[in-house]
Amino acid sequence: MTTVAAYAAPAAKAPLERTTIEVRAVREFDVLIDIKYAGICHSDIHQVREGWGEAIFPMVPGHEIAGVVSEVGPGVTKYKVGDRVGVGCLVDSCRECDNCEAGQEQHCVRGAVQTYNGIGRDGEPTYGGYATHVAVDENFVVRIPDGLSLDVAAPLLCAGITTYAPLKQWGAGPGKKVAVVGLGGLGHMGVKIAHALGAEVTVLSQSLRKKDDGLKLGADHYYATSDPKTFEELAGSFDLIVSTVSAPLDFGGYLSLLRTGGALVNVGAPEEPIALNLFSLIGGNKILAGSMIGGIAETQEMLDFCGEHGIGSEIELIAASEINEAYERVTASDVRYRFVIDTATI
Ligand code: NAP
Ligand code: ZN
Ligand code: ZN
Repeated sequence: MTTVAAYAAPAAKAPLERTTIEVRAVREFDVLIDIKYAGICHSDIHQVREGWGEAIFPMVPGHEIAGVVSEVGPGVTKYKVGDRVGVGCLVDSCRECDNCEAGQEQHCVRGAVQTYNGIGRDGEPTYGGYATHVAVDENFVVRIPDGLSLDVAAPLLCAGITTYAPLKQWGAGPGKKVAVVGLGGLGHMGVKIAHALGAEVTVLSQSLRKKDDGLKLGADHYYATSDPKTFEELAGSFDLIVSTVSAPLDFGGYLSLLRTGGALVNVGAPEEPIALNLFSLIGGNKILAGSMIGGIAETQEMLDFCGEHGIGSEIELIAASEINEAYERVTASDVRYRFVIDTATI
């Protein structure tokens, strides 16, 4: 065990503060990562505030981890000291169930081990990326392509894969009209990736405040959802809508924007349920689907895709002492477009 510096929430809703945690000694298949950057995902905030239910404290959030391998266990074959690597939302799973076998470790039927706010298969609590080091089994570590700097690559480990997976699964590409709802951390990655996949991309944001940015990120069109005319004008026009919104949303209105047989895929994880008039699904044979992050191999595929297309996140690099302020700004939709912690400041 090694004692390292970290930022943790000592209790639900409490501000994060500097502390120390124990990082396990590397096991046979472990990689010890010297964490350089950690993105702040809205999921960190939901969990610190227990918005999704009871959580484990103290909590060291962070599942958008980018760093450099500083030590490897004797059985490690995939990585060596000095490699640039990332860790996303999960650090272990049973590796035997049908979902694990199919590369869908995030849906492990025995429960994947979350990077933080989880309990490892050894019974110990897991701690995330707001720290200087983490030890992770090599099978849950991915390689960051040479062309991407680690700071802009960190958010790909959650925001990138969470948007890449449904865009691929639901066929975003040339000839397809894709809308992304919410231009935050996930949304801005969704726009970049959908554009790189060749789709015609529309941003549906609460206002036109970020329109210039949205168009620069690769959107072809940009509409404000606060304007009722948007819903009239765009009725029946999209093949695919990906909602990244962190708050409850009137999905009925968004379903009306799909063409016959189109799909609304939700990746947002609001804390409260929504009401939905199911006639908005029946009329036009619409599809309402969900998507949760992605498996390990798919995360590597996404990173390689981003490397080839020069896609990183748009980030605001912050010191660890600014985490609490950043949480307030994310909650207020005031983020352009991902806060990333420079872990050298922890
Ligand atoms: P974020 O950076 O805060 O972005 C969310 C965006 O949603 C905001 O920027 C805002 O965009 C829009 N929004 C916020 N409140 C709204 C409201 N009341 N009505 C309409 N739009 C609103 O958050 P994020 O990190 O991208 O995460 C988004 C959600 O996805 C969170 O709930 C997070 O927990 C969840 N998530 C899910 C997965 C998964 O596997 N499915 C993975 C990661 C995160 P505009 O200002 O453009 O309107
Ligand atoms: Zn996340
Ligand atoms: Zn499994």
